[in-house]
Amino acid sequence: MANQPIITFHDGHSIPQVGLGVWQTPQDIAAPTVLKALEAGYRHIDTASGYDNEQGVGEGFRSSGLDRKDVFITTKLRNTDQGYDNTLRAFDGSLKKLGMDYVDLYLVHWPSPHRGLYRETWKAFVKIKEEGRARSIGVSNFYPDHLEHIIGDTGVVPVINQIELHPDFQQKAAQEAHKKLNIVTESWSPLGQGKFIANPVIGTIAKKHGKTPAQVIIRWHIDTGLVVIPKSVTPSRIEENFKVFDFKLDAEDMAAITKLDDKGARMGPDPYTATF
Ligand code: NAD
Repeated sequence: MANQPIITFHDGHSIPQVGLGVWQTPQDIAAPTVLKALEAGYRHIDTASGYDNEQGVGEGFRSSGLDRKDVFITTKLRNTDQGYDNTLRAFDGSLKKLGMDYVDLYLVHWPSPHRGLYRETWKAFVKIKEEGRARSIGVSNFYPDHLEHIIGDTGVVPVINQIELHPDFQQKAAQEAHKKLNIVTESWSPLGQGKFIANPVIGTIAKKHGKTPAQVIIRWHIDTGLVVIPKSVTPSRIEENFKVFDFKLDAEDMAAITKLDDKGARMGPDPYTATF
C-alpha cells in the first residue's frame, strides 16, 4: 500500500484512505470494475451484502493477482440479518461469496433502531473480531447514542463509522464525537452522488490547481482526515478519482469549502427514522 495515505485504527490495523465504493454496481460489472481499480492503484474496496456484488468483488480481486494481504476489503451486514445468530450466519455467507477467509473490515450497515437488534448484533461482531475473521469491526450510520450503547455493552469501540458526508453535508458534530472516541470517520456518497461536482466554488478551486472537481472533493475528504470511497464504474473516472496524491488544498480552499456546509443537504435517509 505504498504511495497512498493510510489511517491507523485504534486496534492497530490500517486502512488506505481512498477506496472504491461499489454500491449500485451489478454483480457482472463488479469484477471488471474492481480489477480496473486495483490496476489503477486502489488497494481498498467497499462493498456490502446488500449490494449483491460480493462475488464479483472477490472475482475482481482474484483476477488482479495481488496478494490478499495487500488489498483492504470492507463488507457490511444486511439489515435483515441483524441479531446474534443471524449475524454469525450472514458473515459466513459474505466470506463465502467473496471467496475469502477473512475481511479487513466488517460493518453494521445501519443501526435500524426499529428492529431493536443492533446491540445483540454488535456482540456477534465482537466474536467475529476475536476469531480473527474480520481484522477490524465498525459501524455505519450510527448516531452517538447508538455508539454509546454498543460500547457500554461490550467495551469494544468500533474502529470506524461510515456516514453520509460530502462538502455540503459535513457532519461536523459527528466528526467531533468520533474523534473523542478514537473512531475514524468514513464518508459515504463523498461526491454527493455526483450531484455536487458542478458546484461553482469547487469548480474555481479545481481550475486553480489544474485538477477536476471530483479530484478537489476527494482531496478535501483526505485533507479533512476522512476515509473516502468514491464510486464509479467508468474506467477513466476510476483513474481520475485516484490521481489525488500530487496536490493539497490550501487554507483558503479549505475555508471556502467549509462555508458550503448545509445541515439540510442530507441526501440519504436519516438513520433514526430509516425503516429498512
Ligand atoms: P458518490 O458520491 O461516490 O458518487 C458517485 C457518482 O458520482 C457516480 O455514480 C458518478 O455518477 C459520479 N462520478 C464519480 N466519479 C466522477 C468523476 N470523476 N467525474 C464526474 N462524476 C463522477 O456516491 P455513492 O456511490 O453514493 O457513494 C460512494 C460509496 O459509498 C458507495 O459506492 C458505497 O460503497 C458507499 N455507500 C455507503 C452507504 C452506507 O449506508 N454505508 C450508503 C451509500 C453509499
